[in-house]
Amino acid sequence: METTSDHNNNNNHKPHFILIPWMAQGHFIPMIDIARLLSLHSVFVTVITTPGNTSRISSTISRLLPVHFTTLSFPSTATGLPPGCENLDSVPSRDLARNFYNAAKLLRQPLEHHLVPPPLHQAASSPALASLGFTPSPKNSTFQDSSFKASPASLFSAITTLAFSNPMRLFPLLSNLFFYLISQQQQQQQQLMITKSELPKFFDKSSEFYDIYKELQEGENSADGIIVNSFDELEPEYAEFLAKATKKRVWTVGPVSLSSEDKLDVSERGNKADINEEDCLHWLNTQVPGSVIYVSFGSMGKLAPEQVKELGFGLEETKRPFIWVMKDVGKFRKRNEGKCFLIRGWAPQVMILKHKAVGGFLTHCGWNSTLEGVAAGVPLMTWPLGADQFLNEKLVVEVLGVGVRVGAKAVVSMEGGEKGTSGDQVVRREMVVKAVERLMDDGDEEGKKRRERVKELEEKAKRALMIGGSSWLNLDLLIGYVSEHDVVKLHG
Ligand code: UDP
Repeated sequence: METTSDHNNNNNHKPHFILIPWMAQGHFIPMIDIARLLSLHSVFVTVITTPGNTSRISSTISRLLPVHFTTLSFPSTATGLPPGCENLDSVPSRDLARNFYNAAKLLRQPLEHHLVPPPLHQAASSPALASLGFTPSPKNSTFQDSSFKASPASLFSAITTLAFSNPMRLFPLLSNLFFYLISQQQQQQQQLMITKSELPKFFDKSSEFYDIYKELQEGENSADGIIVNSFDELEPEYAEFLAKATKKRVWTVGPVSLSSEDKLDVSERGNKADINEEDCLHWLNTQVPGSVIYVSFGSMGKLAPEQVKELGFGLEETKRPFIWVMKDVGKFRKRNEGKCFLIRGWAPQVMILKHKAVGGFLTHCGWNSTLEGVAAGVPLMTWPLGADQFLNEKLVVEVLGVGVRVGAKAVVSMEGGEKGTSGDQVVRREMVVKAVERLMDDGDEEGKKRRERVKELEEKAKRALMIGGSSWLNLDLLIGYVSEHDVVKLHG
């Protein structure tokens, strides 16, 4: 029987995908997963990035032989960044974020040089596709352009489009506070209420990064389609909503974290872990199944020292075992060795989430983490800090019913330290204890349902990625679309 991939194999117009991931882990990691998935569909794939970013994933690259990697040197020092600072997670302070964006902009010219046909891969016939993620687009690229977003098909992507294209649709005249979305999920009409304070700060014209996001959005507006790290069964009405809002094709191809089951791919995703993976697995093996809480605030989320203290005391008070990934300046002194496994730096997140001992995930609701938790069948305790995370929390708690809120109310600085959470924004230890108990209580009927729902979604996520599953087919549709459209489009 001929599979769709065989069909693509036989196709003379075997497309060449060029992926240029934005250099932040939340974009870079899923883009590498996408490269792997595309290569499994037998198309040519080139990833263009910088030496610092490839060296972090050198072991992954050695296993991703069908994917070609090209590097362009990153002009960190030209914009005042320290040498070797090539990813947003290594920018020393928020004050230098704009320097990072400016350095990325300087990549435009070398990128244009690279993207001039004939394609990098001599074997590749046209058409080619440049997938630019968040990277400032090279002007006059004679490649068809599709933007990949590591955000939910729904809320964030669509709302971002509305926010920048037509703010009045986002904040209707009569009610300038709320924006409603209708969801038919779970066979019922549901209204999602989003307050202005929960929207990303960069939507606000007075925000220091508004111009950057507007520029990025404009680049994305000229793309032909949007590849989304989500799956049809998770949020179908929002994928539709996104297609309508953007008037573009939308391909949901995730969860991309399931792109490989190889032990090393799973444990070395995005970076080499800062602990010995075997020690971590050994510790997890000694714990009761479903008993461990995994705590992480993503690749950049930092908490203020006072907040670190409250979280630490709260977790200890629950007397439950936990793994805590710390990227903070704050200090935490373990008082009960056996119950806590501390990771300072980079954690093998997907490896941990997949372990049967893990029964809950305290997450900042970055989209990748959210999806990785769901794909591992682990219920979530939601603690958004900013960006799209409050919207993701809504999806998790109100629409999907697989999470418990800790009670964070408004956007805080991701930087921790002096500029971090303070005063009544601090999530107190009692709130942590209460949310953990709700999440982990097995006797509770509501908790049981939550666990059942997330297990169902885990199964659906796995099926979506299998041959013939929705995401697998969507990737085939995307490849088909690219193959049929050999008219190249100028990107302004
Ligand atoms: N991640 C990881 N180890 C860490 C921190 C993060 O593997 O110690 C990965 C995580 O699995 C996810 C990505 O980094 O794939 C973070 O993306 P997300 O969208 O969750 O959050 P962001 O870092 O963009 O805020």
